Amino acid sequence: MRRKYIFVAGGVMSGIGKGITTASVLRILQGKGYRATAMKIDPYVNVDAGTMNPIEHGEVFVTDDGAECDQDIGNYERFSGENITKENYLTTGKVYQTVINKERNLEYKGKCVEVVPHIPDEVIQRVKKAGEAAKADFVLVEIGGTVGEYQNSLFLEAARMMHLQTPKDVLFILVSYLPVPETIGEMKTKPTQNAARILNEAGIQPDIIVGRSPFPMDEARKKKISTFCNIDKKDVISAPDAESIYDVPVNLDKEKIGERILKKMEVPLKKKKGDFHKWEFFAKEIKKKKKTVKIAIVGKYFETGNFVLTDSYISVIEAVKHACYKVGYKESITWLSSEKYEKEKSALKELSSYDGVIIPGGFGERGVEGMIRAAKYCREKKIPFLGICLGMQVMVIEFARNVCKLNKATSTELEKNTKHPIIDVMEPQKEILRKKKYGGTMRLGAYDCELKPGTVARRLYKKKMISERHRHRFEVNNEYLSLLETKGLVFSGVNPDFNLVEIMEIKKHPFYVGVQFHPEFKSKPITGHPLFIEFIKASGKKRAPL
Ligand code: GLN
Repeated sequence: MRRKYIFVAGGVMSGIGKGITTASVLRILQGKGYRATAMKIDPYVNVDAGTMNPIEHGEVFVTDDGAECDQDIGNYERFSGENITKENYLTTGKVYQTVINKERNLEYKGKCVEVVPHIPDEVIQRVKKAGEAAKADFVLVEIGGTVGEYQNSLFLEAARMMHLQTPKDVLFILVSYLPVPETIGEMKTKPTQNAARILNEAGIQPDIIVGRSPFPMDEARKKKISTFCNIDKKDVISAPDAESIYDVPVNLDKEKIGERILKKMEVPLKKKKGDFHKWEFFAKEIKKKKKTVKIAIVGKYFETGNFVLTDSYISVIEAVKHACYKVGYKESITWLSSEKYEKEKSALKELSSYDGVIIPGGFGERGVEGMIRAAKYCREKKIPFLGICLGMQVMVIEFARNVCKLNKATSTELEKNTKHPIIDVMEPQKEILRKKKYGGTMRLGAYDCELKPGTVARRLYKKKMISERHRHRFEVNNEYLSLLETKGLVFSGVNPDFNLVEIMEIKKHPFYVGVQFHPEFKSKPITGHPLFIEFIKASGKKRAPL
C-alpha cells in the first residue's frame, strides 16, 4: 500500500489530550495489523526539548537514540510498545536550523530561500523521512499547539501542501473541546465549529473531528458538528473523559475511528485479525478492585502558582502504575516537595506513612539537601526506596556523608570546589561546560550496563547485560568506589565501555536501589519494568502482603 499520513491538530485549547488521541489511533491502527508510527512537531524555537524547564514544558522524554523530546513521544512508545527514533520529533528551531545550514552549504543553488515554501517543504521531507525510517503504512503527525496560533501555522501549511500533492494519502483529524458550562448545563459545540473554521481558513478541511468533553457526546451534538463543520456524522467521534488514559484506545475503537480512517483513505481491511484484543483485555483487567500501595515521590518540579503539576515526572508516574497493574495493586501517588525537609527535619516523619519512596531525576541545587535527608531517613527506617538519576546521586552522597563519615561529600553540580566530589563530571563533559554548549550534549540515550551476580539488580532483571536510557552529565566518582564498597555500598551495575557506575544498592534493606539511568522511559503498560515491579512488590510487602 502507499504510505498514508494522518495529521492531528488541536482546537479550542491545549491540554485536551491530542497526544493521547494520537497514541490511541496509533495503537488502533497497529491493532488492525498495520505498521504505524507517530511523530510530533512542536512550535518552539528550541531545537529540542532538552533545554526546557520541566515546569514549563513537562517532562523531557529520551529515546534510545538519545533525542530529548516532548513527553508525547513517551505516550507513543507506551501505547505502541515500539521504539520511536529521533526522526519523529521536530521543532520550529530544528527545521529552521536545517534550512539555514542547507543555505550555508549552497544546497538551494543560489535561490532566494523563503519561509514559504522552503520551511513547509523541509517539514514535508522530514515527515516522509520518519515514515521511511519506520517503514510505516501510517504516519501520524501531531501538530503541537492549537489551531489559530501564529506559531504552528507553517506546520499546517506543510500539511495542506502535502494534501495538495497526494490528496488520497493525507487525512486530517481535529481534536477539539466541547465544554459543558456549569451555568448552562449543556454541551456546547460552537468553539469546535470555530476551530474547524480556522482550519478551513488555512485551506484544510478536517476529515474527522474528535470531540473531547466531560461526558459522551449525544446524537444531537454530533449532528450539529456534522452540519456546521461539513463532515459526515460518522466522522464525529465522541471522546469523553476516561478513568484511565489506557481506556482511550478502547473508547475510540468503539466509535469506529479506525474503520473510518481506513474507509476514507481507501485502505482495505486486513484479513488477519490484529492484536487489539490484548489491549482491550488489559484495559479491563486494570479496573478490577485491588489493594492500594502508597508511593511518595519526593521531588521539586511540582508547583506552578497555585497548582500542582505532575507532568514533569509523567513517565515515572506511568511506570509506577504499570508495575502496580502487574503486581496487582491500585496505585496511590503523593507528591512531596523535598524543600520542606531542609527547613524542618521533623517533616521527614511523614515518609513513614508511605509504603515506598521515589526520588526522581532533577537538575541544580534547589531541594537537593532535602532529598539527601529523605534518602537517609528511608535507608535507616528501611522504607523501600528507588533513586533515579539525581535520586541515585543523592543516595551515594548520603552514604558517603553518614556511613563513610565524609561530611563534606557532595556533587560538583552543587558545589564546584568541594573537598569530596563523590559525584563529578567526566573529562569530556568539563570541556562542554566550559564552552557553555549545553544543548543536546549530556550523556543521552541507551547505554549497556553489566550486572554483577548475586545482587538485587541481577535477580530482578534476570540477565547479565541490560540497556537503559540516560540523561545526565554527572557520574559517581570512581576514586571513591573502594571506600564506599568497604562500607557496604554495592555497585551492582557498571557500564562496561566507560567503566561508569549505573546501579547501586545496599544489603539488609527491603529495597534500596539507585540507578543512574531512567528506567521509567522503557516501562510499558502491559509488561511493566522489572525495577519498578520489584520496588512495588517490596512496597506492598511492607503494608499488606498480597
Ligand atoms: N543533574 C544530574 C546530572 O546532570 C542528574 C540528572 C538527572 O537526574 N536526569 O547528572
